[in-house]
Amino acid sequence: MRKKIQKSMILVITTTLIIAYAITIFFVYGRIRDLASGNVENVARYIAASLNTYGSDTVSWLDGVESDIRLTLIDKNGNVTYDTVQDEFTFANHSNRPEVKEALSDGTGEDIRRSDTLGSDMFYYAVKLNDGNIIRVSETVRSLSFTALELLPMMLIIMAGMILIAWLISKKQAEELVRPINELKLDDPLRNDTYEELHPLLVRIDEQNKAKDAIADMRKEFSANVSHELKTPLTSISGYAEIMKDGLVKPEDIQTFSGRIYKESQRLVTLIDDIMQLSKLDEGAVTGKAEQLELFSLSKDVVESLDCLAAKDDVKLEISGEPCTITGVRQLVQEMIYNITENAIKYNRKGGRVSVWVGSTLSGSKVVVTDTGIGIPEDQLERIFERFYRVDKSHSRETGGTGLGLSIVKHSAMLCNAKINVKSKLGNGTQMEIEFPESNVAGAALTE
Ligand code: ADP
Repeated sequence: MRKKIQKSMILVITTTLIIAYAITIFFVYGRIRDLASGNVENVARYIAASLNTYGSDTVSWLDGVESDIRLTLIDKNGNVTYDTVQDEFTFANHSNRPEVKEALSDGTGEDIRRSDTLGSDMFYYAVKLNDGNIIRVSETVRSLSFTALELLPMMLIIMAGMILIAWLISKKQAEELVRPINELKLDDPLRNDTYEELHPLLVRIDEQNKAKDAIADMRKEFSANVSHELKTPLTSISGYAEIMKDGLVKPEDIQTFSGRIYKESQRLVTLIDDIMQLSKLDEGAVTGKAEQLELFSLSKDVVESLDCLAAKDDVKLEISGEPCTITGVRQLVQEMIYNITENAIKYNRKGGRVSVWVGSTLSGSKVVVTDTGIGIPEDQLERIFERFYRVDKSHSRETGGTGLGLSIVKHSAMLCNAKINVKSKLGNGTQMEIEFPESNVAGAALTE
């Protein structure tokens, strides 16, 4: 960042200098031209006045004068009768030269001509004398590009000096600009007294810190809960096994004891399965491709796999609705329907009913599971989606619940873009629905 600031400062200064150089050349050259043409005109007028007084032939008196100014005497036919410089132009006829033509008709004439070979501009001023001859004065002025070249070395020296100064100043400036940023306390970002412009960034960092802390707290709580949940069945298993090992169980009770050990180990297996499933969802490591799913037949298969449990609990399980298609990851969608329907059976009463409806609505395709069960207290409707949260711990334990089912549903729904809606009346029953939005590409994000 420091280097970038320095570089941009030097770039700004260099650009400014180049622009200043161009503008200076332009103005300096304009001034040189004005001076030259003024000079040429003045000289011409003085010499004309003198020749008018003393006669054209006195022009040769000027032979010995050393000057950059060239004098040419031209007769009315355009022939050169006198020239301070003798070259091939001296012998050419001058009647067509613009300044001569103009002087012949108007008394005075001027012109500026470029000489590319010399890299210069020629300024001409011609005055018609009383005897009809023309006296012409000319001066060479360096062209714009030559003037620019002439000034270039000086300009380069100035530029190098300025860049050096700019480099030194920008180094210090950049250091001062960057220092408050380097000294930022990122652990407590909002406590920094720094640039106003950094405030939104610091607010974002603060939010991220808080989110990270919340995740860390959640992890800690989750590990504590996991240990606790694992410990309970393991303690039972170890207790039963110890009594059996010590021969304290009568032979007729062995079956009951080993049955309890089996039940508790089954609990452990379910618990570990759920924990593994959740951590997979957390990592986004769900395998499976998004595909077109026919929601009704998929739900029917899930419902059929729960027939046994429903019959055992004396709950009537039924499915109705119509075929509808969504795009989603089969395993995730299946698991969501399974968990919700299983809960509707588990938290029901003897002779109760669970109705599953599948179909399309205005808000999208839905799976609606309605039960006539024990219901959920209103103030706990949100909490049931928390990990290990159970309204009635002992009831959940009795039914082999882990308290993780709805967390898995919530997570899967999030990955599938789906929404879970719950309505419940304590003592009357619960309705849970999974809503797949119309344009749902459920779990499409997981395919790549
Ligand atoms: P569990 O393994 O205990 O069933 P879940 O995460 O699936 O865990 O559910 C959390 C809690 O929500 C359950 O313990 C239960 O108290 C409550 N619950 C879930 N579904 C229903 C339902 N259909 N009727 C009544 N209570 C329910």
